[in-house]
Amino acid sequence: KPQPTPRPGVLDIAAYVPGKEHAPGVARVFKLSANETPLGPSPKAIEAFKAAAGQLERYPDGQATALRAAIGTTFRLNPANIMCGNGSDELLGLLCHTYLGPGDEGIVTEHGFLVYKIQITAAGATPVTVKEKDCRVDVDAILAAVTPKTKAVFIANPGNPTGTYVPVAEIRRLQASLPPQVLLVLDAAYAEYVRRNDYEAGLEIVSSCQNVVMTRTFSKVYGLAALRLGWLYAPEHIIDALDRVRGPFNISAPGIAAGAAAMADQGFIEQAVSFNAEWIGKLTQAFEALGLEVTPSVTNFVLIHFPDVEGKRAADADDFLTARGYILRAVRSYGFNNALRMSVGPEEANLGVIEALREFMGRG
Ligand code: PMP
Repeated sequence: KPQPTPRPGVLDIAAYVPGKEHAPGVARVFKLSANETPLGPSPKAIEAFKAAAGQLERYPDGQATALRAAIGTTFRLNPANIMCGNGSDELLGLLCHTYLGPGDEGIVTEHGFLVYKIQITAAGATPVTVKEKDCRVDVDAILAAVTPKTKAVFIANPGNPTGTYVPVAEIRRLQASLPPQVLLVLDAAYAEYVRRNDYEAGLEIVSSCQNVVMTRTFSKVYGLAALRLGWLYAPEHIIDALDRVRGPFNISAPGIAAGAAAMADQGFIEQAVSFNAEWIGKLTQAFEALGLEVTPSVTNFVLIHFPDVEGKRAADADDFLTARGYILRAVRSYGFNNALRMSVGPEEANLGVIEALREFMGRG
């Protein structure tokens, strides 16, 4: 009997599978698999969220005016160039569905964030994957992959799950060398964590170009992953196009209120960034001292590479850590067969993983 069938390509998509959350039989579990912050959101965001719960029968402001104003104030941007989304995931999808279609190509990098490929395919277009160099985005490889069919290039900067970054000079070179009709999407989900002189999230580049967009999120250092809040900074012609396609009330009222309060509390963000920087350094050093290779990270997570030795591989470490309540992220779907990604957690969890891996590596 005939039945409705999805568009060509849809059933080729491998659905996004989030990392595991549970360790069966273990009472105390530390989830270090989703790059969430151990510090939670600003207390002011929680207060604002509770206050907004008093009017749940009302539709939210479809323009998310208060949230866009708060972002504009913090980053000195015109709110007319800002759009909010149900997580940056939604905005990445919206970009694909607005700018790509059958016959088009979208360029992604070898270890890039999986949502790009999923949404490019869902839009009916073809993802073209280019190699990275030592876990770093290779601008020349991207440029070499551009064809007349290329409609967009997606780069996470910093990258997930690598934790590496592309210096601003390289991003500028990429933008300058791309055909002006190709959209360059800079996904800066982890931008707040980076403390490098040669890094810029790309706000200035967006301001001065007509083909560059930057996506940001409240899910990481702002500690609001549960609310699903992201934002995008783009030239007005792009905001105009996306506004025609997006859902009319894509951000909830509690989300608008909590996001605006979190954005205004930059003192809290600075503390979270300092806490993270301290632990990224300590974790990297500790794991290297155990003979493990760690990709240098500018984010709130580290990519740990395991030896290719029976009983010492990433899958073995994953089982060993899970049995002790430490849940890290297997990253096979990102092209790393023998590595685990660990988010910085609370002190107790960070010390616990160091201790457990010492035992695992036989250094204890
Ligand atoms: N981009 C990157 C690189 C990410 O790692 C994530 C979260 N895993 C996102 C975007 C999506 O974040 P959200 O939808 O929570 O804003």
